[in-house]
Amino acid sequence: MKKPLQLLIFLFFPCLTIAQILPNYALVLHGGAGVMAAESMTPAVQKEYVSVLNRALQVGDSVLASGGTSMDAVVKTIVILEDSPLFNAGKGAVFTHEGTVELDASVMDGKTLTAGAVAGITDIKNPIELARAVMEKSEHVLLTGKGASQFAIEQGFKQVPNSYFYTEKRFQQLQELLKNERKPGTNDKHGTVGCVALDRFGNIAAGTSTGGMTNKKYGRIGDSPVIGAGTYANNATGGFSCTGHGEYYLRLGFSRDVSALMEYRQLDVQKACQLEIEKLTKLGGTGGVIGLDRYGNIAMEFNTPGMFRGYIKSDGSRFTAIFK
Ligand code: ASP
Repeated sequence: MKKPLQLLIFLFFPCLTIAQILPNYALVLHGGAGVMAAESMTPAVQKEYVSVLNRALQVGDSVLASGGTSMDAVVKTIVILEDSPLFNAGKGAVFTHEGTVELDASVMDGKTLTAGAVAGITDIKNPIELARAVMEKSEHVLLTGKGASQFAIEQGFKQVPNSYFYTEKRFQQLQELLKNERKPGTNDKHGTVGCVALDRFGNIAAGTSTGGMTNKKYGRIGDSPVIGAGTYANNATGGFSCTGHGEYYLRLGFSRDVSALMEYRQLDVQKACQLEIEKLTKLGGTGGVIGLDRYGNIAMEFNTPGMFRGYIKSDGSRFTAIFK
């Protein structure tokens, strides 16, 4: 919050706290949806996941509480999840068929309907920051591969070797799929990360970051960096970030369709997300979506046994969960 505004509020409403006067904010995040059975995840491992979710919520909350923008909150929250080896984004990303890591990310600003995205990134630690730079510093929406790297270097991003993204767990997951000759998508443990925030100025932003699907080939790109599929935000409706089998989300134009359900059929955010998940289920796809509307109402819908998820609001409410 800008200093002069704080001063004015104190002058005119001396007996109220800032939190009582200022408009609400809210932030919702996910760390991927998939097959995660409570019995196959020890309480210690569950605790580890929840603790990173909480840390990410905390970071987003402090941005929004101090009057920061929803875009800042979304990017800073996602950076925490990208830096954790637990999630399929940034440091913990899954491997391609060739044993390399290719990252996709996107952001969208619900006020201006501007957006930025990157795909097939091999050498930038936090692709979500690069997606934001594409939105703010280029005239494009989606950059891929070498060109995206060149843009990143021009923008002063530090490069990391692809080996930075190596984690033993993801390497073993690839070996398992290679052994069974299973196609990407048959591994239904997801782990993409995403965040949607509403700030005190009434602006909504959304972002998603992922390593895609284990064993992906041929430069495969999923829904996460595609605006209208994995990510969408519009102040008039809401903001959305998806996780799941990307091919289905692409075919549905998932997140844009949720927004359209709210705009044209006046569905509330939860109904719209539920209906879209029903469409996904009918097509045979699996996954989840998080969303929030301009009042800070939150939706977290999925058709898998679990989705790492959580939210935090200016009214002090806070929630994290993994299973249904
Ligand atoms: N949606 C991502 C993709 O298809 C993967 C995921 O969310 O797990 O690339």
